[in-house]
Amino acid sequence: MNLYNETKNILKKYNISANKKLGQNFLINEEVIEEIIKASNIKKEDLIIEIGPGLGTLTQKLLDNAGKVICIELDTRMIEILNDRFKLYNNFELINDDVLKVDLNNLIKKEKNEGIVSVKIVANLPYYITTPIIMKLLEERLDIESITVMVQKEVADRLIDIPGGKNSGAITYAINYYTKPEKIIDVPNTSFLPSPEVNSSVIKLKVLDSPSVRVKNEELLFKIIKLSFMQKRKTLLNALTNGKLESKVEIEKMLTNLGFDSNVRGEKLSLEDFAKIADYWVKKLTK
Ligand code: SAM
Repeated sequence: MNLYNETKNILKKYNISANKKLGQNFLINEEVIEEIIKASNIKKEDLIIEIGPGLGTLTQKLLDNAGKVICIELDTRMIEILNDRFKLYNNFELINDDVLKVDLNNLIKKEKNEGIVSVKIVANLPYYITTPIIMKLLEERLDIESITVMVQKEVADRLIDIPGGKNSGAITYAINYYTKPEKIIDVPNTSFLPSPEVNSSVIKLKVLDSPSVRVKNEELLFKIIKLSFMQKRKTLLNALTNGKLESKVEIEKMLTNLGFDSNVRGEKLSLEDFAKIADYWVKKLTK
């Protein structure tokens, strides 16, 4: 049976329909699932954490390839379906919760103590909270190897752009600070049931052993990046002044001292440039 019919049958059997508010667009394209599995490079000793397993289409393939799969699903209606479907698998575990509330560091630590060698995140993410989920996975400094996820194409283009590129935003800098990003494939909206309005892409973020640039105060670095992007198209001088980082005179002085044009815009700067600015203020504040 093809995935379209299989998905329709499961929904009918359990008398449910997709919940748009939870970003439920179920994958029905076998080839895309194969691409996700291939890109994830799953080994028998791996723990895979799947966010939002839904009806379990991707989960099935993950279970066949990984040592263990832990799924985190918010929708209680999916829990019965998933437990019915995977009750014979002894490497399957399910957490019925909001992924943003789960203590992933603790979960991973426990699994590593029990012999898991490496951890990978794989998911067809619910689009309404893509950014908070990715930021959580990065900022919590999880002991994970990679994150392979389906996201909206437009978001993917921002995530995998180079900092300072035409699609880049504040999150592009965070992605490049913590990971090495790559696009795996573009996925047409017809690969989902129901079909969303926009197309999607699968991306892979390979988590770096240490951040790509050295900076004295990470929090300050991301504060400055966020301030610069909150007021896109403003000069960096105005954005940082309006954001009350320092007085206009001090910010002008900083730009001159570091060799930047006084009209430079934040979105033109590289991660290294922002690191230089953050380090300048740290030095100033600790003088
Ligand atoms: N993995 C399935 C597939 O590919 O067919 C479903 C993917 S669907 C795009 C996103 C899934 O994330 C849904 O099952 C939805 O219920 C779940 N979800 C939505 N918000 C969530 C949250 N905060 N925490 C965990 N799961 C969530």
